[in-house]
Amino acid sequence: MRALVIVDVQNDFCPGGALGTERGNIVAEQIARLQRDPDNGYDAIVATQDWHIDPGTHFSDNPDYIDSWPVHCVVGTGGADFHPAIDEETLHQIFRKGEYTAAYSGFEGHAATDDITTMAEWLRDKGITDLDITGIATDYCVKATVLDALKEGFTVRVLTDLCSPVHPDTEAQALTDMKNAGAEIV
Ligand SMILES: [Zn+2]
Repeated sequence: MRALVIVDVQNDFCPGGALGTERGNIVAEQIARLQRDPDNGYDAIVATQDWHIDPGTHFSDNPDYIDSWPVHCVVGTGGADFHPAIDEETLHQIFRKGEYTAAYSGFEGHAATDDITTMAEWLRDKGITDLDITGIATDYCVKATVLDALKEGFTVRVLTDLCSPVHPDTEAQALTDMKNAGAEIV
């Protein structure tokens, strides 16, 4: 059983957002096409959201863009919403992370419906063994989600055309790290 995982395709990570990545719009539209493809073969489609209330030093007025960032994805703002291309109708579950701390991996989040169930628990409960991971940003939240998925025992493919990086250098390192950890990079 295979699931599509859409990581943080939110307005603040797309062009015009607080932390816009260059390919954000293209990736959102390509993911949406895959969501709607009747032959995509997915048994489940889930998405994660960076979901900040007061995440401490994750936010900074003088961000280093490594451990601290400009204010982004604040709950109740449009920046935290999914990119409008994302088809929310097809999502079987949403996992939100980072309310009061930095959280890069979707596996740190909890189901939007009950605030308790983790993504690993939810996927296992549905019998999912294989994940196709997509989203933003390749070099941060996608990478962290992929590495956690492998630790949780899932078989992982990274769909690189459907991922948008912050920077090409850190993207290249992230792809190497994910491959070395056991992910298939396609
Ligand atoms: Zn964040």
